Amino acid sequence: MTPAEVIDRAGLRNHPRVVLNATAPDSGLAISHNPATGQPIAGIRLDDAASYEKTVTQAVETFKTWRLVPAPIRGQIVRAIGDELRRHKDALGALVSLEVGKILAEGLGEVQETIDIADYAVGLSRNLGGPVLSSERPNHAMYEQWHPLGPIGVITAFNFPNAVWGWNAMLAAVCGDVTIWKPSLFAPLTAIATNEICEKVAAAHGHPGIFRLVIGQDAEIGERMVADRRIPLISATGSTRMGKRVGQIVAGRVGRTLLELGGNNGLIVTPSADLDLALKSVVFGAVGTAGQRCTTTRRLIIHESIADGFVNKLVAAYKTVRIGDPLAEGTLMGPLINAKAVENFLAAIAAARQQGGAVLVGGDRYAAPGPLSGGHYVQPTIIRAPTNNSLPIAMEETFAPILYVFTYRDLDQAIAIHNSVDAGLASAIFTNDVRESQRFISPTGSDCGLAYVNLGTSGAEIGGAFGGEKDTGGGRESGSDSWKAYMRRQTCTINFGTEFKLAQGIRFE
Ligand code: NAD
Repeated sequence: MTPAEVIDRAGLRNHPRVVLNATAPDSGLAISHNPATGQPIAGIRLDDAASYEKTVTQAVETFKTWRLVPAPIRGQIVRAIGDELRRHKDALGALVSLEVGKILAEGLGEVQETIDIADYAVGLSRNLGGPVLSSERPNHAMYEQWHPLGPIGVITAFNFPNAVWGWNAMLAAVCGDVTIWKPSLFAPLTAIATNEICEKVAAAHGHPGIFRLVIGQDAEIGERMVADRRIPLISATGSTRMGKRVGQIVAGRVGRTLLELGGNNGLIVTPSADLDLALKSVVFGAVGTAGQRCTTTRRLIIHESIADGFVNKLVAAYKTVRIGDPLAEGTLMGPLINAKAVENFLAAIAAARQQGGAVLVGGDRYAAPGPLSGGHYVQPTIIRAPTNNSLPIAMEETFAPILYVFTYRDLDQAIAIHNSVDAGLASAIFTNDVRESQRFISPTGSDCGLAYVNLGTSGAEIGGAFGGEKDTGGGRESGSDSWKAYMRRQTCTINFGTEFKLAQGIRFE
C-alpha cells in the first residue's frame, strides 16, 4: 500500500486540515513524516489562539446539551461509533502504521483497542451508579450520584495515536463529557481521521461537536489548553517530563489531571519458570513496537543460575527479527519515530558501554535498503549489566528497543532491583512457584500499577484499570472504575421526615 492509498482510504484526501504535497513546515503548518522512509506524508494546518478559543467556546456550549442526554442514549451513539470504527479498522490501522511506524498487526490491534473500549463504554452507560449509604439520622436517605464533568482535554503521545484517545473519549462520551483532543505533532493525521469518523457518527445522531480537535505547538496550544479553567480535567499521556509540567500548571488552577506517563518496566525470570514462555514474552515485550510502548520490557532480571543459557537463546531470537517496512507482510520491527529517537538510542548505548555494560546483540543503526534508506531504523539490542548490577543508564526510559539484563541471587534482591527505578507502570514475573508469584503481587512485591504473572509487561486488556505509580503519574484509564475520573461525584442527603436533626448528635435548640 502506498502512502497516497493509505491517505485516501482514511478519508483524508479532501480534509480541510490536510495539505497534500506540502514538504516544509511554516508557522501555520506542520508536516507529518513517514518514519519508515523519512519522507513527508502531508502537511497539517495548525490551530492558533483564535481557532483554539472558538473550539473551546463551542465545546462549552455543546456540553450544556450533551450532559442532559440520558447516559444509555449516549451509549447507543458510542455503540454506533464502535461499528463505524469496525468498518474503518483496516484503513485506520494502516494509517497508524504509516504515520508512527508500528507494524500493521499492531496498527490494527490499536484500532481494535478503541473498538473494544467503545463496547465496554456501551455497557457502562447503563451502570454509572453510586452506592446508597446508611444515614445516621431517622427519615434521612443518603446516596452518591455521578454527573458529567465538562469539556475535557486529552493530550496524547505519538506511540498510541488512536487507542489512547479512544480510551479517554469513549468513556468521556458515555459520561456526558465533550472531548477536546490535542494529539502529538508526530501523529496528527491519525487524530484527524479518527476524530472525523467518530464525530460524523455523533452528528448523524443529532449531537455534533462532542469530539473536537486542537492541533498545535505545545507552547502555543498545549499550554493554553492545560491552563484553561473551562477544562476541568486534563488527561495527559506522554513522558514524565511532560507530566511534571502539565501537572504543575493544572494544579495551579486546582484542576484535575489524569497522568499516564513513562515506564521502565522490569521482568523477573526465576529458576522454576517456563523458559519458552518467558522467552517469547521477553522478545515481544522488548522488541515489539520497536521498544516504543510505555509498557515495553526494558529490564530483564534473571536468576544467575539460568541467565547464560536464557540470554544466549534471547540473542539467537533477536538475530531472526525482521526489520523493515511496517506495512510489509512479515516485518516484525519497524523504525523509530524520528532521527532524534535514533540519536537517543545511540547515546544510551554509548553510556551503557561507558558504564561497563556489554552489548550482546545489536547496538547500532540498521541500514535499510532502497526506498527505506531514509528511515529511522535501529537494531534491537541487548546489554548485559556488569556483575555488580550497576548501570545508571538503565534507570532511565530510553524509548527504543534496548533490553538491559541484570542477574540476581534471591527474590528479595530481584524485587529490590525491580523497584529501584523512578517509574512504576508494568511489571512481570515468570515462575511456577506459588510463593514467588504471590510475593511478587503482595504489598512488598512489585510497586507498579500493572503486575503480571507468566505474562510479559506489554499488551494490557481494556477491562482492567490501566496506569502506574511513582513517576508514571498515578492515573488510571480504560476499564474497572476508571470512568470516575470523567465525572463529578455528588453525595446527596435527603430529609423525608419533619424533624430538624443534626449529624453527630449535635443539639442546636
Ligand atoms: P511527549 O511527552 O513528548 O509528548 C506527549 C504529548 O504531550 C504530546 O501530545 C505533546 O505535544 C504533549 N506535550 C508536551 N509538552 C507539553 C506541554 N508543555 N503542554 C501541553 N502538551 C504538551 O511524549 P511522546 O514522545 O509523544 O510519547 C512517548 C512517552 O509517552 C513515553 O515516555 C511513554 O512511556 C509515554 N506513554 C505513556 C503511556 C501510559 O499510558 N502510561 C502510554 C503511551 C506513552
